[in-house]
Amino acid sequence: MTRTVYVNGDYLPEDQAKVSVFDRGFLMADGVYEVTSVLDGRLIDFGAHRARLKRSLAELDMANPLSDDDWLAIHRRMVADNGIDQGLIYLQVTRGNPGDRDFAYPPKDTAPTVVLFTQSKPGLADNPAADTGISVISVPDLRWHRRDIKTVQLLYPSMAKMAAKAAGADDAWFVEDGFVTEGSSNNTYIVKDGVIVTRALSNDILHGITRAAVLRLAHEAQMKIEERSFTIAEAQAADEAFFTSASAFVMPVVSVDGAAVGTGKPGPVARRLREIYLEESRKAAV
Ligand code: PMP
Repeated sequence: MTRTVYVNGDYLPEDQAKVSVFDRGFLMADGVYEVTSVLDGRLIDFGAHRARLKRSLAELDMANPLSDDDWLAIHRRMVADNGIDQGLIYLQVTRGNPGDRDFAYPPKDTAPTVVLFTQSKPGLADNPAADTGISVISVPDLRWHRRDIKTVQLLYPSMAKMAAKAAGADDAWFVEDGFVTEGSSNNTYIVKDGVIVTRALSNDILHGITRAAVLRLAHEAQMKIEERSFTIAEAQAADEAFFTSASAFVMPVVSVDGAAVGTGKPGPVARRLREIYLEESRKAAV
């Protein structure tokens, strides 16, 4: 099926959806993005994704081009026009097309580029990987130091995923100064003696929308949480490990750098959190 893609106010067949070669997103990775999941044709954690988009734009001195209502209306129309039951909506805003290449930002009145497209993923909530768990390798975190801004500079995470694949693993965890920062596209956790441990928020990691929701739900379920950094050795010696992201929800990690975590199977905390998150976020979907 040809997808309908949103480009700067128009809903177009994907082969007619185009942006300029002078776009700052293309030339400079000067843009931000969000990925919102769709379950039962409804948007998961939408308000929080929209709030983070506004923060990312503000941190890069870019104006928010649309109202809250318009963002919601566009997302809903993308779900409807593309017949998405389960899947993802990708949204990108760049500093636009100044008509030439220049390191300096273009004048403030340069129109931003706004693009949205959908990815249909039937079975997203029933991903079989959640039953088996996934494996990760560690790689040095060579990214820039504003990882709290969700920019489209994804070359290094892409390289990390390729390194994982080459090593026969599913994903990579970044390590800096001896501690895990986050996964290539997710936030990371271990569970030891019933305590959920995850790195505290700072500019070193993306402030995951799923992280915030899962920690809130874990707190409500009286689970113990420690927001602190942990090492790869601690992860290998933990009872459980898992990651969170908008596209994978809560995903058990059963092997870290070749060492089995816990029993080598998904543990009860990750399973429970996945269940609670899917149930509660579906209820709250818009
Ligand atoms: N960290 C990084 C580096 C990511 O790319 C992502 C996914 N966008 C996350 C964490 C998880 O964030 P979220 O739960 O908002 O998808």
